[in-house]
Amino acid sequence: MTATAGALDTLMTSPAREFAATDHGAFVSGEYLAPGGDTVADIDPSTGEVIGRIADSDVETVDRAVRSAAAAFQGEWGGMLPGQREAVLHRFADLVEAHSAELAQYDALEGGKPVSYVEAVDLPLAVEQFRYYAGWPTKLVGSVIPVDTPDSHVYARRTPLGVVAAVTPWNFPLCQAAIKLAPALAAGNTVVLKPSELTSLSALRLAELAIEAGLPPGTVNVVPGTGATTGQALISHPAVAKISFTGSEAVGRHLGAEAGRALKHISLELGGKNPNIVFADADIAKAAAAAATTAYFYSGQVCFSGSRLMVERSVLDQVLDAVREHARGLVLGHSLDRSTTMGPLASEAHRDKVERYLDTVSGTGGEVAFGGNRVPGGGFFLEPTAIVGPADSDPVVTDEIFGPVLVVQPFDSVEDVLPRANDGRYGLTAGVWTTDVRKAHAVSQRLQAGTVWVNTYADYNAAAPFGGFKSSGFGKDCGPEGLDKYLQTQTIWMSLS
Ligand code: NAD
Repeated sequence: MTATAGALDTLMTSPAREFAATDHGAFVSGEYLAPGGDTVADIDPSTGEVIGRIADSDVETVDRAVRSAAAAFQGEWGGMLPGQREAVLHRFADLVEAHSAELAQYDALEGGKPVSYVEAVDLPLAVEQFRYYAGWPTKLVGSVIPVDTPDSHVYARRTPLGVVAAVTPWNFPLCQAAIKLAPALAAGNTVVLKPSELTSLSALRLAELAIEAGLPPGTVNVVPGTGATTGQALISHPAVAKISFTGSEAVGRHLGAEAGRALKHISLELGGKNPNIVFADADIAKAAAAAATTAYFYSGQVCFSGSRLMVERSVLDQVLDAVREHARGLVLGHSLDRSTTMGPLASEAHRDKVERYLDTVSGTGGEVAFGGNRVPGGGFFLEPTAIVGPADSDPVVTDEIFGPVLVVQPFDSVEDVLPRANDGRYGLTAGVWTTDVRKAHAVSQRLQAGTVWVNTYADYNAAAPFGGFKSSGFGKDCGPEGLDKYLQTQTIWMSLS
């Protein structure tokens, strides 16, 4: 079922395979630094084999990258006219689109996401981010403020913050890079991007494309490496004005505290345990199909995965049967094999963590309805799994498992389901399935979630704000709000007397 390292010869195109096998250093001021010092093994999670090595960028390298970004902010990028900036960002979008097939292979290889999904979902979303925000530099208008002081002209300008430290997770590497780079650059900032140590290749390649598009050297720098070494050096660098983070709640809390101490701007896109609520009056076939898709898409390693399926008791068996059928039809295999519909988990350590949840589940009344086992072979595979009936207090219900483990809970009424769905510490997304339009509005407006999908799930667009409530973070991605977090307002008072 899994492929060997030799199989990459047939699964990858030649230039992409060579790029993946190259040992990589940081990309600073428009060029690669030699990958000296400590390195991290780059592992193919479909086989468990080492593909290459990536620099664990140290304090000196990070300092060099931040200085380079600060110089570009003070220099060529900061001095560009809005129309010039738009033209460069449009070229960047075109180049990302033109290199989609190559870039998709890196995210599929390192993250274990089926390549057909990366091509169909991740790449179009990344291009869309660049295109959407490319149009903004000429529209960043300020305001003239009416004040009571005679003979005064008061106006407010929207100005960039400076150097942005962008720290991203492994589950949507290119997409997350685009979600941060596109608005940060459109607002006029420069960026030092630290991708996850598990998935560095597409970010490094993106930095090369930025140069090809005409972004001045230093505008986009990439420092690969671990959170403890590279990430910590980056977010604590005094010349970083803003931390833009997407990742786990635990790291988000740490970065929030660091930003508070240093008084840096910060935005946090964190985890979720998202209730997907199916009422008995819903189109059950449609709801069950969507519930299964969101549960197992990319092995459940998605922040907005509908990982907590709440089903009105009278249709529980019907929904669960349909989810089981969907799971049976999934084809587990190497992420670069086009017939694969479910790949491995992203790392061995992550699979171990997911399995620990399965070990404890019977303690609060839950039972494994199907799945729960490793798949033999070298990769980090786990079967699509469903747990039915755990208590609301069970960690499988309250925690983000981030694996192919769907938790299914019956409910009896709106009054029963709403407080239970809102009880968790997260508030990223939710789903509501019903044909009763009054119920649809009433329930979705009372759900404590940043995005609620009604009779659909997982739609995403660069124009629609996305981001969590409660411990899922703050500072929206996408839309005008996605830009606001990379801007500050300067007020100018001018006496005309
Ligand atoms: P993670 O928090 O472990 O790591 C995220 C990034 O932070 C990585 O680049 C990591 O190296 C870095 N990091 C770790 N410690 C650091 C430190 N001390 N200083 C600076 N950087 C540090 O998360 P992950 O496992 O890579 O990703 C999965 C998580 O991301 C899940 O919780 C998921 O829900 C979340 N996520 C959220 C969204 C969203 O939009 N809300 C989107 C995608 C993923």
